[in-house]
Amino acid sequence: MNKATIASQISKVLTRIDAAARQASRPIEDITLIAVSKTKPASDIEAAAACGLKHFGENYLQEALEKIETLRTLDLTWHFIGPIQSNKTRPIAEHFDWVHSVDRLKIAQRLNDQRPAKRNPLNICLQVNISNEDSKSGVSADEAPELAKVMAALPNIRLRGLMAIPKPSDDPAEQATAFEAVATLFHTLRRTIPELDTLSMGMSQDLEAAIGAGSTMVRIGTDIFGARNRS
Ligand SMILES: *Cc1c(COP(=O)(O)O)cnc(C)c1O
Repeated sequence: MNKATIASQISKVLTRIDAAARQASRPIEDITLIAVSKTKPASDIEAAAACGLKHFGENYLQEALEKIETLRTLDLTWHFIGPIQSNKTRPIAEHFDWVHSVDRLKIAQRLNDQRPAKRNPLNICLQVNISNEDSKSGVSADEAPELAKVMAALPNIRLRGLMAIPKPSDDPAEQATAFEAVATLFHTLRRTIPELDTLSMGMSQDLEAAIGAGSTMVRIGTDIFGARNRS
C-alpha cells in the first residue's frame, strides 16, 4: 500500500480510538495501538512507523523474523499474536517484546526458559476463549485463575493480562457483551495478581466496543494496511 494511504488510514483509526476513549471517559494514554502487519511487507511497517506508530503485531513467525531483522534500526516493539507451536518458542522468546497468544502452561514455561538473560522479561498475555466456541485457541474463564497464578511466578516472563478474540459480530451489543466478560475475568484476576495491567482486545471491526469495555491494547490490521489475502 502507498505511504499516503497508510498515513490517512492511521489517522482515521486514531480518530476512532480517540472518540471511543472519550465516550468511555477514559484517558487516551491508556490505550496502545498495535498495528497488525501480518502478510504485509516491511515497507508498509516503515510507512506506519514514519507516522509515529511503535507497536507492531505479527502472526507468522518466519515472515515476522525477516521483518524484525530488516527493520532492526527503527526501535519498534514487536508483539507476537498468532498461534504458537511449542517447537517454535525459542525464536519468539529471543526476538519479540510481547506474546499475546499464550494459552497453555507448556508454552509459558518454554518462553520463560528460552528468554535470553540479557533481555527484559518477556511480556505475556494469557489468551482466553470467552465467546468463540468455534475457536480452539484460548483457555476458559474457569481455567484462567490457576494458570495465571503459575505463569505470574515465572521469573523471565511477565504476565501482563489477558488477550481475547471474540466471535466476529456486526452487533455492537453482542461485541460489548463478549468484551465485558473478558474485562470481568480480568478484574477478578487482579484481586490476586494486582500487577496485571493489560487487556488486549479489539480489532478493526470492534475496537469501539473493546475500548468501551476497558481494552488497553487494540490490534488493528485491515483498517491500517488494507485487506489481506490470507487471515
Ligand atoms: C489478524 C489479527 C488481528 C487484526 O485483525 P483486523 O480485523 O485485520 O484488524 C488482530 N488480532 C489477531 C490475533 C489477529 O490474528
